[in-house]
Amino acid sequence: MKQATRILHVGRPRGDARGQPVNPPVMHASTVLFPTVEAYEAADGQRYSELSYGRHGTSTSAALENALAELEGGYRAIVLPSGLSAISAALLAFARPGAHVLVTDAAYGPTRNLCENVLHRFGVDVEYYDPRIGAGIAGLVREETTAIYCESPGTASFEVQDIPAIAAAVEGRDIPILNDNTWATPCLFPSFERGVDISIHAGTKYIVGHSDAMLGVVVCNERYWRTVRDMVGLLGYATSPDDCYLALRGLRTLSLRLEKHEANGLAVARWLEGCDMVERVLYPALESDPDHALWKRDFRGACGLLGFRLKVADRENAVRFCNALELFGIGASWGGYESLVSIPKPTRKVSTIPGEGALIRIHVGLEDCDDLIADLKAAMETVAA
Ligand SMILES: *Cc1c(COP(=O)(O)O)cnc(C)c1O
Repeated sequence: MKQATRILHVGRPRGDARGQPVNPPVMHASTVLFPTVEAYEAADGQRYSELSYGRHGTSTSAALENALAELEGGYRAIVLPSGLSAISAALLAFARPGAHVLVTDAAYGPTRNLCENVLHRFGVDVEYYDPRIGAGIAGLVREETTAIYCESPGTASFEVQDIPAIAAAVEGRDIPILNDNTWATPCLFPSFERGVDISIHAGTKYIVGHSDAMLGVVVCNERYWRTVRDMVGLLGYATSPDDCYLALRGLRTLSLRLEKHEANGLAVARWLEGCDMVERVLYPALESDPDHALWKRDFRGACGLLGFRLKVADRENAVRFCNALELFGIGASWGGYESLVSIPKPTRKVSTIPGEGALIRIHVGLEDCDDLIADLKAAMETVAA
């Protein structure tokens, strides 16, 4: 089955029961009642696969988890209440005093905050590495290394990581490769074929897709699922069944939406590349991007999130540009149907983002791209004036 077909069928009620709704129902529960102590204790022993208590999930979260695991090709998925809670649970699963964790220098800001303010406080040695390190990661791996954390493409910089090379460098060792796959979604980067062990998503973005719910997802291979699932249980995270329902609903149009985000993203990126106020565009789907070949080898497409640098370096110009836009909203997040703009905060420690001009990030939404380009053009003219 092709992906566009599978995405409509994963996680849906099966079997020949008559009078079945198309979508899984929303099951709300805290207490679940059992006829006997024996039945209750048996269900509690199987809490990751049977209904036992609301915090461990209901049939609605299970439907979403099954859908996402099948779509990405993982063993099992775990849903969480936000993208950041998915990152924190996955990283904490491999944290202990004295552990060494390698984290890409292109990681999302709150991921870095977690590393520096939580992991570090509990005695984990977090070391940032250049996202373009590839097989060179072997030179940083130590006896105490317990995880390698990737995010590809990088949050504000869009470097593509050579994850197959990183995975090959630690093959045969008990060092899981974690990857924040939010940009590519389960559709555009087949994590487990590329050597990832634990794939993390801010479902808040494209999976929910409509800017109206928070959600996190961790998809694991068989080797590491139990370790991460137990940590999620220990931390007490529980995800709202209503938000799981919104994610299941958003998921059905994900591959269709991504096609349009990519087409619009490419049209906008090409226009920006030809704009004489722009120094460079950061988007691996562009033929001129230094990571284009790597992206083409490993990814099945691109989404609508990209960066660019103005020729001028002072922040004031970036602020004027953003304020002048009409169709691009100013605000956190991305991956909804609408276009957005933001000015990334500088975070890098051991590497730099190519170029020198003021950095701007845009999410290209599902609007008609002629209108988006006209809006960008008018805002550029405001800055030039
Ligand atoms: C937004 C985002 C997150 C965090 O997701 P929330 O649902 O906002 O907690 C994590 N990673 C990336 C790459 C993101 O863009």
